[in-house]
Amino acid sequence: MDQILDHRQIADEMEIFVLDAEVGAGLPLWLPNGSAIREALERYMKELEQKGGYQRVHSPHIAKAALYQRSGHLAKFGNEMFPPIELPSGEEKMYLRPMNCPHHHKIFAAKMRSYRDLPIRLAEYGQVYRFENSGALRGLSRVRSLCQNDAHIYVQPEKAFEEILKVLNLHEQVYRDLGLVDHHYRLSLHDPSQFHLYQGQKSDWRVAEDFLKKALQHLNLKFVEVAGEAAFYGPKIDVQMEMAGDREESVASLQLDICSAENFQLSYRDGAGNDVRPWVIHRAPLGSHERFVALLLEKFQGRLPLWLAPVQLAILPMPGAREEDNKRHAEHLADQARAVGARVSLDLSSGSLNKRMRFVRRFRPGFIVVVGEKECDSSEIVVRGRDSEKIISLKDWKCFFRESLAGPVQS
Ligand SMILES: [Zn+2]
Repeated sequence: MDQILDHRQIADEMEIFVLDAEVGAGLPLWLPNGSAIREALERYMKELEQKGGYQRVHSPHIAKAALYQRSGHLAKFGNEMFPPIELPSGEEKMYLRPMNCPHHHKIFAAKMRSYRDLPIRLAEYGQVYRFENSGALRGLSRVRSLCQNDAHIYVQPEKAFEEILKVLNLHEQVYRDLGLVDHHYRLSLHDPSQFHLYQGQKSDWRVAEDFLKKALQHLNLKFVEVAGEAAFYGPKIDVQMEMAGDREESVASLQLDICSAENFQLSYRDGAGNDVRPWVIHRAPLGSHERFVALLLEKFQGRLPLWLAPVQLAILPMPGAREEDNKRHAEHLADQARAVGARVSLDLSSGSLNKRMRFVRRFRPGFIVVVGEKECDSSEIVVRGRDSEKIISLKDWKCFFRESLAGPVQS
Protein backbone atom coordinates (compact mmCIF):
# COMPACT_ATOMS: atom_id res chain seq x y z
CA MET A 1 0.00 0.00 0.00
CA ASP A 2 1.17 3.51 -0.78
CA GLN A 3 2.26 5.70 2.05
CA ILE A 4 -0.59 7.75 3.55
CA LEU A 5 0.28 11.43 3.43
CA ASP A 6 -0.80 13.98 6.01
CA HIS A 7 -3.13 16.70 4.71
CA ARG A 8 -0.44 19.35 5.33
CA GLN A 9 1.97 17.73 2.89
CA ILE A 10 -0.73 17.23 0.25
CA ALA A 11 -1.97 20.81 0.71
CA ASP A 12 1.57 22.07 0.32
CA GLU A 13 2.05 20.19 -2.96
CA MET A 14 -1.35 21.24 -4.27
CA GLU A 15 -1.00 24.88 -3.11
CA ILE A 16 -4.15 24.89 -0.99
CA PHE A 17 -3.23 27.33 1.80
CA VAL A 18 -0.32 29.07 3.49
CA LEU A 19 0.34 30.29 7.00
CA ASP A 20 2.20 33.53 7.49
CA ALA A 21 3.89 34.61 10.70
CA GLU A 22 2.77 38.23 10.29
CA VAL A 23 -0.85 37.23 9.74
CA GLY A 24 -0.78 34.97 12.77
CA ALA A 25 -0.70 31.37 13.91
CA GLY A 26 -3.75 29.28 13.03
CA LEU A 27 -5.03 31.83 10.50
CA PRO A 28 -4.73 30.11 7.12
CA LEU A 29 -4.65 32.12 3.89
CA TRP A 30 -6.55 30.19 1.25
CA LEU A 31 -4.73 30.13 -2.09
CA PRO A 32 -6.61 30.00 -5.42
CA ASN A 33 -6.56 26.17 -5.49
CA GLY A 34 -7.91 25.89 -1.95
CA SER A 35 -10.51 28.55 -2.67
CA ALA A 36 -11.67 26.57 -5.73
CA ILE A 37 -12.45 23.58 -3.49
CA ARG A 38 -14.26 25.78 -0.93
CA GLU A 39 -16.35 27.40 -3.61
CA ALA A 40 -17.31 24.11 -5.25
CA LEU A 41 -18.41 22.78 -1.84
CA GLU A 42 -20.36 25.95 -1.08
CA ARG A 43 -22.12 25.95 -4.44
CA TYR A 44 -23.12 22.35 -3.93
CA MET A 45 -24.30 22.85 -0.36
CA LYS A 46 -26.19 26.06 -1.08
CA GLU A 47 -28.10 24.33 -3.86
CA LEU A 48 -29.00 21.40 -1.60
CA GLU A 49 -30.05 23.74 1.20
CA GLN A 50 -32.13 25.88 -1.13
CA LYS A 51 -34.00 22.75 -2.18
CA GLY A 52 -34.41 21.81 1.48
CA GLY A 53 -36.21 25.07 2.30
CA TYR A 54 -33.28 26.91 3.93
CA GLN A 55 -33.01 30.70 3.76
CA ARG A 56 -29.58 32.32 3.63
CA VAL A 57 -28.51 35.08 6.01
CA HIS A 58 -25.32 37.04 6.70
CA SER A 59 -24.11 38.38 10.01
CA PRO A 60 -21.05 40.23 11.38
CA HIS A 61 -18.02 38.46 12.82
CA ILE A 62 -18.13 40.43 16.07
CA ALA A 63 -20.71 41.33 18.71
CA LYS A 64 -20.98 43.08 22.04
CA ALA A 65 -20.13 41.27 25.27
CA ALA A 66 -23.83 41.31 26.20
CA LEU A 67 -24.65 38.83 23.43
CA TYR A 68 -22.18 36.27 24.74
CA GLN A 69 -23.27 36.83 28.31
CA ARG A 70 -26.80 35.98 27.24
CA SER A 71 -25.73 32.97 25.17
CA GLY A 72 -23.59 31.64 28.01
CA HIS A 73 -20.45 31.52 25.82
CA LEU A 74 -18.53 33.94 28.02
CA ALA A 75 -19.30 31.94 31.15
CA LYS A 76 -18.74 28.48 29.65
CA PHE A 77 -16.20 29.01 26.85
CA GLY A 78 -14.70 32.39 27.69
CA ASN A 79 -11.18 30.98 27.71
CA GLU A 80 -11.66 29.58 24.19
CA MET A 81 -12.67 33.02 22.85
CA PHE A 82 -10.24 35.70 21.69
CA PRO A 83 -9.75 38.40 24.34
CA PRO A 84 -12.15 41.35 23.96
CA ILE A 85 -11.68 44.30 21.62
CA GLU A 86 -11.59 47.38 23.84
CA LEU A 87 -13.38 50.41 22.39
CA PRO A 88 -12.78 54.07 23.26
CA SER A 89 -15.10 56.40 25.20
CA GLY A 90 -16.83 53.96 27.45
CA GLU A 91 -18.41 51.87 24.70
CA GLU A 92 -19.06 48.25 25.57
CA LYS A 93 -16.26 45.90 24.57
CA MET A 94 -16.74 43.52 21.69
CA TYR A 95 -15.76 39.94 20.95
CA LEU A 96 -14.91 37.97 17.82
CA ARG A 97 -17.67 35.41 17.59
CA PRO A 98 -16.89 31.81 18.58
CA MET A 99 -20.18 30.56 17.04
CA ASN A 100 -22.87 31.83 14.69
CA CYS A 101 -25.89 30.76 16.79
CA PRO A 102 -26.44 33.97 18.79
CA HIS A 103 -26.56 36.09 15.63
CA HIS A 104 -29.06 33.71 14.05
CA HIS A 105 -31.22 33.74 17.19
CA LYS A 106 -31.38 37.52 16.88
CA ILE A 107 -32.49 37.19 13.25
CA PHE A 108 -35.26 34.81 14.35
CA ALA A 109 -36.25 37.30 17.07
CA ALA A 110 -36.35 40.24 14.65
CA LYS A 111 -40.00 39.66 13.79
CA MET A 112 -43.16 38.00 15.04
CA ARG A 113 -43.27 34.33 14.15
CA SER A 114 -46.33 32.14 13.82
CA TYR A 115 -46.41 28.34 14.07
CA ARG A 116 -47.39 28.44 10.38
CA ASP A 117 -43.94 29.92 9.49
CA LEU A 118 -42.05 27.13 11.23
CA PRO A 119 -39.70 25.41 10.69
CA ILE A 120 -37.53 28.41 9.87
CA ARG A 121 -34.14 27.33 8.56
CA LEU A 122 -31.46 30.05 8.62
CA ALA A 123 -28.23 29.12 6.86
CA GLU A 124 -24.89 30.89 6.62
CA TYR A 125 -21.33 30.02 5.70
CA GLY A 126 -20.23 31.81 8.87
CA GLN A 127 -16.71 32.67 9.92
CA VAL A 128 -15.95 32.06 13.61
CA TYR A 129 -12.85 32.53 15.79
CA ARG A 130 -11.51 30.31 18.56
CA PHE A 131 -8.50 31.06 20.68
CA GLU A 132 -6.90 27.63 20.38
CA ASN A 133 -3.70 27.05 22.29
CA SER A 134 -0.80 27.67 19.90
CA GLY A 135 0.59 24.21 20.67
CA ALA A 136 -2.63 22.57 19.50
CA LEU A 137 -2.71 24.28 16.07
CA ARG A 138 -2.25 21.91 13.13
CA GLY A 139 -2.51 22.78 9.43
CA LEU A 140 -6.14 23.21 8.47
CA SER A 141 -7.48 20.72 10.98
CA ARG A 142 -6.87 22.87 14.06
CA VAL A 143 -7.07 26.62 13.41
CA ARG A 144 -8.12 29.87 15.06
CA SER A 145 -10.40 31.08 12.27
CA LEU A 146 -12.86 28.79 10.54
CA CYS A 147 -15.82 29.00 8.22
CA GLN A 148 -18.76 26.78 9.16
CA ASN A 149 -21.41 25.25 6.92
CA ASP A 150 -23.88 26.40 9.54
CA ALA A 151 -27.66 26.54 9.90
CA HIS A 152 -30.14 26.88 12.73
CA ILE A 153 -33.60 25.45 12.39
CA TYR A 154 -36.36 26.83 14.60
CA VAL A 155 -39.04 24.20 15.00
CA GLN A 156 -42.14 23.43 17.05
CA PRO A 157 -40.98 20.92 19.71
CA GLU A 158 -43.65 18.40 18.68
CA LYS A 159 -42.45 18.58 15.04
CA ALA A 160 -38.74 18.21 15.88
CA PHE A 161 -38.65 14.49 15.06
CA GLU A 162 -39.71 15.07 11.44
CA GLU A 163 -37.13 17.79 11.02
CA ILE A 164 -34.33 15.68 12.48
CA LEU A 165 -35.15 13.00 9.92
CA LYS A 166 -34.76 15.60 7.17
CA VAL A 167 -31.48 16.83 8.60
CA LEU A 168 -30.09 13.30 8.91
CA ASN A 169 -31.19 12.53 5.36
CA LEU A 170 -29.35 15.64 4.19
CA HIS A 171 -26.19 14.47 5.99
CA GLU A 172 -26.48 11.05 4.35
CA GLN A 173 -27.00 12.50 0.89
CA VAL A 174 -23.98 14.77 1.25
CA TYR A 175 -21.64 11.98 2.38
CA ARG A 176 -22.95 9.67 -0.34
CA ASP A 177 -22.41 12.33 -3.02
CA LEU A 178 -18.88 12.90 -1.76
CA GLY A 179 -18.06 9.20 -1.60
CA LEU A 180 -17.56 9.33 2.18
CA VAL A 181 -19.30 6.10 3.01
CA ASP A 182 -17.11 5.07 5.95
CA HIS A 183 -18.83 6.88 8.77
CA HIS A 184 -21.06 6.30 11.73
CA TYR A 185 -22.94 8.44 14.23
CA ARG A 186 -22.41 9.03 17.92
CA LEU A 187 -25.48 9.85 19.95
CA SER A 188 -24.40 11.99 22.90
CA LEU A 189 -26.84 11.95 25.81
CA HIS A 190 -26.82 13.68 29.20
CA ASP A 191 -25.55 12.02 32.36
CA PRO A 192 -28.65 11.49 34.57
CA SER A 193 -26.52 11.40 37.73
CA GLN A 194 -25.20 14.93 36.95
CA PHE A 195 -28.39 16.66 35.88
CA HIS A 196 -27.34 19.93 37.56
CA LEU A 197 -24.77 20.40 34.74
CA TYR A 198 -27.53 20.82 32.16
CA GLN A 199 -30.15 23.47 31.47
CA GLY A 200 -33.84 22.72 30.91
CA GLN A 201 -36.49 20.30 32.15
CA LYS A 202 -35.93 16.58 32.64
CA SER A 203 -39.11 15.79 30.70
CA ASP A 204 -37.87 17.83 27.68
CA TRP A 205 -34.53 16.05 27.80
CA ARG A 206 -36.28 12.69 27.72
CA VAL A 207 -38.34 13.66 24.66
CA ALA A 208 -35.40 15.26 22.82
CA GLU A 209 -33.10 12.28 23.40
CA ASP A 210 -35.83 9.92 22.33
CA PHE A 211 -36.36 11.86 19.08
CA LEU A 212 -32.68 11.66 18.16
CA LYS A 213 -32.43 7.96 18.95
CA LYS A 214 -35.64 7.07 17.10
CA ALA A 215 -34.55 9.09 14.06
CA LEU A 216 -31.24 7.20 13.85
CA GLN A 217 -33.08 3.90 14.22
CA HIS A 218 -35.77 4.88 11.73
CA LEU A 219 -33.14 5.56 9.05
CA ASN A 220 -31.14 2.45 9.94
CA LEU A 221 -28.01 4.46 10.59
CA LYS A 222 -25.09 2.91 12.41
CA PHE A 223 -24.62 4.64 15.79
CA VAL A 224 -23.14 4.31 19.24
CA GLU A 225 -24.63 5.83 22.37
CA VAL A 226 -22.52 7.83 24.82
CA ALA A 227 -23.84 9.17 28.11
CA GLY A 228 -22.44 12.41 29.52
CA GLU A 229 -21.36 13.91 26.17
CA ALA A 230 -24.44 16.06 25.49
CA ALA A 231 -24.14 19.84 25.21
CA PHE A 232 -25.44 21.71 28.27
CA TYR A 233 -28.42 22.88 26.21
CA GLY A 234 -29.42 19.57 24.62
CA PRO A 235 -28.45 16.15 23.25
CA LYS A 236 -26.49 15.84 20.00
CA ILE A 237 -25.42 13.52 17.24
CA ASP A 238 -21.81 13.62 16.04
CA VAL A 239 -20.67 12.29 12.68
CA GLN A 240 -17.55 10.15 12.99
CA MET A 241 -15.56 9.63 9.80
CA GLU A 242 -13.35 6.55 9.71
CA MET A 243 -9.85 7.45 8.55
CA ALA A 244 -6.74 5.49 7.55
CA GLY A 245 -4.85 3.79 10.37
CA ASP A 246 -7.97 3.10 12.50
CA ARG A 247 -8.37 6.78 13.27
CA GLU A 248 -11.73 8.41 13.68
CA GLU A 249 -12.51 12.06 13.08
CA SER A 250 -15.52 14.03 14.17
CA VAL A 251 -16.62 16.09 11.14
CA ALA A 252 -20.03 17.39 12.05
CA SER A 253 -22.41 17.77 14.93
CA LEU A 254 -26.19 18.02 14.95
CA GLN A 255 -27.61 19.39 18.19
CA LEU A 256 -31.17 19.48 19.42
CA ASP A 257 -31.18 22.60 21.57
CA ILE A 258 -34.07 22.76 24.04
CA CYS A 259 -32.77 25.75 26.05
CA SER A 260 -31.51 28.62 23.85
CA ALA A 261 -35.01 29.85 23.05
CA GLU A 262 -35.51 30.51 26.77
CA ASN A 263 -32.14 32.33 27.11
CA PHE A 264 -32.89 34.47 24.07
CA GLN A 265 -36.62 34.87 24.78
CA LEU A 266 -37.46 33.43 21.35
CA SER A 267 -41.06 32.52 20.72
CA TYR A 268 -43.70 31.86 18.10
CA ARG A 269 -47.47 32.20 18.32
CA ASP A 270 -49.24 28.81 18.37
CA GLY A 271 -52.72 28.01 16.98
CA ALA A 272 -54.41 28.99 20.27
CA GLY A 273 -52.66 32.38 20.38
CA ASN A 274 -50.06 31.44 23.04
CA ASP A 275 -46.40 32.37 22.81
CA VAL A 276 -44.34 29.19 22.78
CA ARG A 277 -40.58 28.56 22.85
CA PRO A 278 -39.29 26.78 19.74
CA TRP A 279 -36.57 24.14 19.83
CA VAL A 280 -33.47 24.85 17.77
CA ILE A 281 -31.55 22.36 15.66
CA HIS A 282 -27.92 23.34 15.08
CA ARG A 283 -26.45 21.51 12.11
CA ALA A 284 -23.38 21.72 9.85
CA PRO A 285 -23.05 18.57 7.70
CA LEU A 286 -19.71 19.70 6.24
CA GLY A 287 -18.43 21.06 9.57
CA SER A 288 -15.99 23.84 8.69
CA HIS A 289 -14.21 24.37 5.38
CA GLU A 290 -10.90 24.10 7.21
CA ARG A 291 -11.42 20.70 8.86
CA PHE A 292 -13.48 19.32 5.98
CA VAL A 293 -10.95 20.15 3.29
CA ALA A 294 -8.20 18.68 5.50
CA LEU A 295 -10.28 15.52 5.79
CA LEU A 296 -11.01 15.33 2.05
CA LEU A 297 -7.35 15.82 1.16
CA GLU A 298 -6.34 13.00 3.48
CA LYS A 299 -9.20 10.69 2.58
CA PHE A 300 -8.57 11.00 -1.19
CA GLN A 301 -4.85 11.68 -0.84
CA GLY A 302 -5.42 14.76 -2.97
CA ARG A 303 -7.17 12.91 -5.83
CA LEU A 304 -10.46 14.69 -5.16
CA PRO A 305 -13.65 13.83 -7.05
CA LEU A 306 -13.41 15.68 -10.38
CA TRP A 307 -16.04 18.29 -9.55
CA LEU A 308 -13.95 19.35 -6.51
CA ALA A 309 -10.47 19.11 -8.07
CA PRO A 310 -8.84 22.55 -8.10
CA VAL A 311 -7.09 21.73 -11.39
CA GLN A 312 -9.50 19.74 -13.49
CA LEU A 313 -7.56 19.92 -16.74
CA ALA A 314 -3.83 20.57 -17.23
CA ILE A 315 -2.66 21.44 -20.74
CA LEU A 316 0.99 21.23 -21.70
CA PRO A 317 2.13 22.41 -25.15
CA MET A 318 5.25 20.59 -26.40
CA PRO A 319 8.51 22.44 -26.97
CA GLY A 320 10.19 22.13 -30.38
CA ALA A 321 10.10 23.58 -33.88
CA ARG A 322 6.36 24.28 -33.87
CA GLU A 323 6.18 25.45 -30.26
CA GLU A 324 4.20 28.59 -31.16
CA ASP A 325 1.57 26.59 -33.06
CA ASN A 326 1.33 24.17 -30.13
CA LYS A 327 0.80 27.03 -27.70
CA ARG A 328 -1.90 28.60 -29.84
CA HIS A 329 -3.76 25.31 -30.11
CA ALA A 330 -3.36 24.73 -26.37
CA GLU A 331 -4.80 28.16 -25.65
CA HIS A 332 -7.76 27.44 -27.87
CA LEU A 333 -8.42 24.12 -26.07
CA ALA A 334 -8.10 25.82 -22.69
CA ASP A 335 -10.57 28.56 -23.65
CA GLN A 336 -13.08 25.99 -24.88
CA ALA A 337 -12.85 23.98 -21.64
CA ARG A 338 -13.10 27.13 -19.51
CA ALA A 339 -16.20 28.12 -21.43
CA VAL A 340 -18.00 25.11 -19.95
CA GLY A 341 -16.73 25.89 -16.44
CA ALA A 342 -13.55 23.78 -16.26
CA ARG A 343 -10.69 24.88 -14.01
CA VAL A 344 -7.73 24.74 -16.38
CA SER A 345 -4.00 25.04 -15.80
CA LEU A 346 -2.21 26.03 -19.00
CA ASP A 347 1.57 25.84 -18.73
CA LEU A 348 3.14 28.04 -21.40
CA SER A 349 6.62 27.95 -19.87
CA SER A 350 9.56 26.46 -21.70
CA GLY A 351 11.46 23.50 -20.36
CA SER A 352 11.37 19.78 -20.78
CA LEU A 353 7.98 18.14 -21.00
CA ASN A 354 8.93 15.58 -18.33
CA LYS A 355 9.80 18.25 -15.85
CA ARG A 356 6.61 20.20 -16.46
CA MET A 357 4.59 16.97 -16.30
CA ARG A 358 6.10 16.12 -12.90
CA PHE A 359 5.30 19.62 -11.67
CA VAL A 360 1.67 19.63 -12.76
CA ARG A 361 1.01 16.18 -11.30
CA ARG A 362 1.49 17.66 -7.82
CA PHE A 363 -1.90 19.31 -8.28
CA ARG A 364 -3.57 15.90 -8.88
CA PRO A 365 -5.38 17.14 -12.02
CA GLY A 366 -8.35 15.20 -13.34
CA PHE A 367 -7.03 15.21 -16.91
CA ILE A 368 -3.76 16.02 -18.63
CA VAL A 369 -3.46 16.92 -22.31
CA VAL A 370 -0.18 17.28 -24.18
CA VAL A 371 -0.38 19.36 -27.36
CA GLY A 372 2.23 18.68 -30.02
CA GLU A 373 2.46 18.73 -33.81
CA LYS A 374 0.31 15.65 -34.15
CA GLU A 375 -2.50 17.21 -32.12
CA CYS A 376 -2.31 20.48 -34.06
CA ASP A 377 -2.85 18.62 -37.31
CA SER A 378 -5.54 16.28 -36.04
CA SER A 379 -9.19 16.58 -35.20
CA GLU A 380 -8.68 14.39 -32.13
CA ILE A 381 -6.98 14.84 -28.78
CA VAL A 382 -5.64 12.26 -26.34
CA VAL A 383 -6.90 13.03 -22.84
CA ARG A 384 -5.06 11.29 -20.01
CA GLY A 385 -7.36 10.66 -17.07
CA ARG A 386 -6.09 9.55 -13.67
CA ASP A 387 -6.42 5.87 -14.52
CA SER A 388 -6.95 5.66 -18.27
CA GLU A 389 -6.66 7.51 -21.57
CA LYS A 390 -9.40 8.62 -23.93
CA ILE A 391 -9.39 9.97 -27.46
CA ILE A 392 -11.76 12.88 -27.79
CA SER A 393 -12.77 14.43 -31.06
CA LEU A 394 -12.49 18.21 -31.12
CA LYS A 395 -16.17 18.60 -31.82
CA ASP A 396 -16.95 16.71 -28.57
CA TRP A 397 -14.32 18.56 -26.55
CA LYS A 398 -16.65 20.95 -24.71
CA CYS A 399 -19.31 18.35 -24.19
CA PHE A 400 -16.77 15.91 -22.71
CA PHE A 401 -15.71 18.39 -20.03
CA ARG A 402 -19.20 19.60 -19.34
CA GLU A 403 -20.23 16.02 -18.58
CA SER A 404 -17.14 14.75 -16.79
CA LEU A 405 -16.80 17.71 -14.45
CA ALA A 406 -20.45 18.06 -13.44
CA GLY A 407 -21.09 17.88 -9.71
CA PRO A 408 -23.51 15.46 -8.05
CA VAL A 409 -26.95 15.68 -9.62
CA GLN A 410 -29.58 16.75 -7.14
CA SER A 411 -32.93 15.99 -8.61
ZN1 LIG B 1 -25.27 26.75 16.53
